[in-house]
Amino acid sequence: MKHTVILLTVLLLAPLAALPAADSYSRPNILLIVADDLGYNDVGFQGARDIPTPHLDCLAASGVRCSDGYVSYPVCSPSRAGYLTGRYQQRFGYEFNPKWDATAVTHGLPLSETTLADSLRSAGYTTGAIGKWHLGAHPQFHPNRRGFDEYFGFLGGGHRYLPGSVAEIGTGKKANKTADTEQTSAILRNSTEVPEVGELTTRLGEEATASVTRHARDAKPWFLYLAFNAPHTPLQAREDMLKKFASITDERRRIYAAMVATVDEVVGRILTALDTTGQRERTLIFFISDNGGPMTKRSANASMNSPLRGQKGDVFEGGIRIPFLVSWPARIPSGRTYSQPVISLDILPTALAAAGATRDTKLAALDGVDLLPFLLGKNIAAPHARLFWRMDGGEAFAVREGNWKWMRTYQNAPQLYDLSTDVGESRDLVTAHPEIAARLAASSADWNHGLIAPTFVNNPFGGLINRTGLEKNAKP
Ligand code: CA
Repeated sequence: MKHTVILLTVLLLAPLAALPAADSYSRPNILLIVADDLGYNDVGFQGARDIPTPHLDCLAASGVRCSDGYVSYPVCSPSRAGYLTGRYQQRFGYEFNPKWDATAVTHGLPLSETTLADSLRSAGYTTGAIGKWHLGAHPQFHPNRRGFDEYFGFLGGGHRYLPGSVAEIGTGKKANKTADTEQTSAILRNSTEVPEVGELTTRLGEEATASVTRHARDAKPWFLYLAFNAPHTPLQAREDMLKKFASITDERRRIYAAMVATVDEVVGRILTALDTTGQRERTLIFFISDNGGPMTKRSANASMNSPLRGQKGDVFEGGIRIPFLVSWPARIPSGRTYSQPVISLDILPTALAAAGATRDTKLAALDGVDLLPFLLGKNIAAPHARLFWRMDGGEAFAVREGNWKWMRTYQNAPQLYDLSTDVGESRDLVTAHPEIAARLAASSADWNHGLIAPTFVNNPFGGLINRTGLEKNAKP
């Protein structure tokens, strides 16, 4: 009897003793992991069969998989401007990838905008960014000036993975001259160039692992933004990883698979570091891709978005719906799928709410919402009545309302799909439901009134659209 009591006491006390102080629960560490051009169906937790991703699957199982998770733009840089500000980036004119030009003062995240890192730093967090920046090459846009205490990575939109070569393995394909300059730009620690050593994704992972370990005992919680450029082109991977995928006969898919598997391996190492330093329970982790997989366009990387239609650069689901995970073991139940539409703009308000951080009321209003009440089941309504997209200053529009998806481009008449029965957007219902199409078109027009014309333009459609044309076209 006595042993039983002692044993029960030990059992009851042991887990409690291992837990951090209650305050740690209300101020979690925050880790935002972003993959680049990852296909909707290219990780195990989304259904991929040919690319095992055990560590990402483990992350998914530890929290919530958002099946209908979106980004606010179907290409790299505007998508990043959206999730780092929590605002539709067209509100501040951000609708193109910026020029790779350190003198371009307008090509970057406007200084009037406040980033997630700014807000978390004000709330007492140590802030770090690792990897791809792509929010402006001018020094005024440097991560250290946008809220990040620590930075390791490259400022452009992409980078070679293997030192010394921008050529894709096997294909021999080279990027154009401008892209070469961007792909071979300096690897920086804050503003200091460091030698390019080893495979890049692996190295970004080493930096992230070192960061979460270094800050494990800090009195302050930390925020780390880990932005892989993988699996964006150029297709390059470590030899040992390529060997693991020898059974994939398509060479480009084989290299792509090795790149995704490298991201997975790195995420596994970071999760292990969080475990061994006792931080996993009190770390809120988001995982997304910045846009859908490019399958046939210029940056095609052999990704797959099935069962979705379209790809990077489209407002079809394949361009904007992405793998989307939220994990916070101390607070969010594990092993769930959440199917209401959510968007990357929600990351910022969710993180701020988790951190107990307030946002200055003088700042511009957010478009994202705090997802915690929804993911915890405290609010069973949809987080958003509608989600909206606009591309290239008005070249394309899309709206999602419940299961309805309305879209239009200048090349095509308006289209309407019921995603509950047609996630592949193959049966246009505009004629069958003209009243719904009209309602969503009107809501798109209303939303558009709150946007501005692009403040910078970079090679839209090969220069076919000039600034005047963009302003004229900026209506649904
Ligand atoms: Ca991208």
